[in-house]
Amino acid sequence: MSELRFQRVLLKLSGEALAGKQKFGIDPESVSAFCREIAEVSRMGVQVALVIGGGNIFRGMAASAKGMDRAQGDYMGMLATVMNALAVQDGLEKEGIQTRVMSAISMQEVSEPYIRRRAIRHLEKGRVVICAAGTGNPYFTTDTAAALRAAELHTQAILKATKVDGVYDKDPMVHEDAVKYPSLSYIEVLSKRLQVMDSTAISLAMDNNLPIAVFNLFESGNIKKVVSGENIGTLVEGGD
Ligand code: UDP
Repeated sequence: MSELRFQRVLLKLSGEALAGKQKFGIDPESVSAFCREIAEVSRMGVQVALVIGGGNIFRGMAASAKGMDRAQGDYMGMLATVMNALAVQDGLEKEGIQTRVMSAISMQEVSEPYIRRRAIRHLEKGRVVICAAGTGNPYFTTDTAAALRAAELHTQAILKATKVDGVYDKDPMVHEDAVKYPSLSYIEVLSKRLQVMDSTAISLAMDNNLPIAVFNLFESGNIKKVVSGENIGTLVEGGD
């Protein structure tokens, strides 16, 4: 077995990743593609916990901007993450990987309740743990749920898969001269207001010394590269 940099990771997948070209809802082909990548690292012996977003289906903040009660919208957003979690569970099982969906909102017919010690046990047994329904609380995001689960499940890193191949000084989709940072401190991310994860998530990662590896989700083989210690994308860790 090749050397692993991380033996236990928390992979944060935004809902958008599952939408594919249609940019909305769940595209089974995109789900299969990501599940193949996740299955590969799981087979390498990496313990994988996943936090899945819901932005491809519903975002509370967007709904509240149009007049809906924010908390109500956020609960709908959390339910959206459960649908995504079930889609990913299906995809991973097709790859022959054992999985458990653990939801922060009880939904016993389709998932286990999220119980930290049980989640750790599943990871130790090599099952991919799919954390659904975010933190279970409105006014949070799945990025914050990712930092929270990473801390409590004692993962060695947060793997933040994004649309671009790292963190830039400005939006590389808009500015051609945007420059990529190979590494950053948490404080730099916060003070420069860089779009890595929201500030609650960054603060939680900082307080718990959890490195955040930011990399392009659409390049195949990237998850494997990150867990093997290849320097791709941007690594957020440490002091200034
Ligand atoms: N959400 C929430 N609490 C949480 C996690 C998520 O209320 O702990 C809601 C919130 O409305 C959010 C939506 O679920 O907009 C979908 O999650 P997110 O926007 O983080 O998904 P992503 O952008 O990663 O697809």
